[in-house]
Amino acid sequence: MNFIQTRGCDDTQPQSVTFSQAILSPIASFGGLYVPETLPELGMEFLNKHLNSSYRALASDMLSRFEIDIDQSVIDEALSLYDNFDDSSNPVPVVKVKENLYVSELYHGPTRAFKDMALQPFGVVLSSIAQKNNENYLILAATSGDTGPAALETFKNRDNVQVVCLYPDGGTSDVQRLQMVTEDASNLKVIGINGVFDDAQSALKRLLASDDFKSALKEKHISLSAANSVNFGRIIFQIIYHIHSYLELVRQGATTMGEKVYLNVPSGNFGNALGGYYAMKMGLPVLKIIISSNENNVLTRLIQTGKYDIRGESVVGTTSPAMDILKSSNVERVLFDMFAEVRTKELMQDLEQKDVYELSADELAKLQEVFDADFCNGDEGKKYIKDTFVNDSYLMDPHTATCFKSYESISNPDVKTIVYSTAEWTKFSPVIANALTGEIDAEDLVALESIAKEANVKIPLMIQELFNKEVIQKSIIEKEDIETEILKFL
Ligand SMILES: *Cc1c(COP(=O)(O)O)cnc(C)c1O
Repeated sequence: MNFIQTRGCDDTQPQSVTFSQAILSPIASFGGLYVPETLPELGMEFLNKHLNSSYRALASDMLSRFEIDIDQSVIDEALSLYDNFDDSSNPVPVVKVKENLYVSELYHGPTRAFKDMALQPFGVVLSSIAQKNNENYLILAATSGDTGPAALETFKNRDNVQVVCLYPDGGTSDVQRLQMVTEDASNLKVIGINGVFDDAQSALKRLLASDDFKSALKEKHISLSAANSVNFGRIIFQIIYHIHSYLELVRQGATTMGEKVYLNVPSGNFGNALGGYYAMKMGLPVLKIIISSNENNVLTRLIQTGKYDIRGESVVGTTSPAMDILKSSNVERVLFDMFAEVRTKELMQDLEQKDVYELSADELAKLQEVFDADFCNGDEGKKYIKDTFVNDSYLMDPHTATCFKSYESISNPDVKTIVYSTAEWTKFSPVIANALTGEIDAEDLVALESIAKEANVKIPLMIQELFNKEVIQKSIIEKEDIETEILKFL
């Protein structure tokens, strides 16, 4: 299957590209994104066939329906990384919290956040394409905390790929920073910036667009690529766990095959939710996809009013920082799927030029047939963390907690809901300790220990060990010096 562009083709790009091309050079005509030409139709037959399949067998069959230009041996190797999750026989446990409410835990990989679900297999696929083409790639990543560790982990010691990861020094949790600066591999470089996440992100965008930088790389026979969340190579792996989670409900006797459920997704850049949307289009029985946000509630307003409006707005810092976002990139793929390329281009250009677009009443109705949305502020989130722990003995992180608000405000309680949990409690421990015990501004290590005691849970070894590991990656620089620092590393 080939991939086409959400804003149509400007003739500087091919009309359609292969999967490999779409993931190596993810920028499409008019600044659009690549999407599959058609979505495979899976239907009930596929679901019945895989009722008792392993995660890997389900994933392998689903991927084969996309007919992508990746050898089966590479796909097998990529999917084998799910064996390193906590439970190799079930990398994504689905846990009942209370009547009709289930949590699909996407964080049992090496870096304890859901980015591993896509980045773990993606690393194998990208490195294998680079080897096959006999090319070397530099992957640049700017992170506010979860993408960086997951990207470093997946690419470490892989051939034909080097990774430079920029993070705001002081802008991540201790655990997130330690996950990056203790990484020890010759193809990885981690750079702390004196500044905030936006500074790291703007520096990265400048470099990606800089001809000087690209020609300096060319002299070293290196091409640039990006592993950000609009890359379809990540999205494709995010369809699988929605299907798996539904089948888990059937296996657990919680629902009968074919009965529709809610998917409730804590959303930022909309990759996770898009995976659910594609799964639904491919035949998964879904009643609605509920989009949960924090105080940065642009998605809530879009879905409730049809207006994507960020005029005069800036991102506010919250207790769920991985969802602190104004421009949610993957929404564009839904616009394309519903309204086609001419309209998508028009809407996205409005957003780029005027910071606002507005759907027609018919378009909004179509969007609302699939999606509903609400947002949850930090204090509400902490209350859900505490109450859910006290009443249902379930411990969750602040991103997951945003779903509990929309569950209450939107869902019909007689219909089953799958909430997606995107991070383990260990990654955002100060907020959770505050919610559970009231302690304020604890350092991660103190907060981890007090949660472990309060909730009678164990700190996973890989988190515990971080605090004793040697710091390898020591660069902390001014943002003006990033380019020099990267070239020095290469
Ligand atoms: C990245 C991330 C999200 C947002 O996911 P999107 O696919 O960008 O919508 C939510 N929670 C956590 C913990 C994350 O790391």
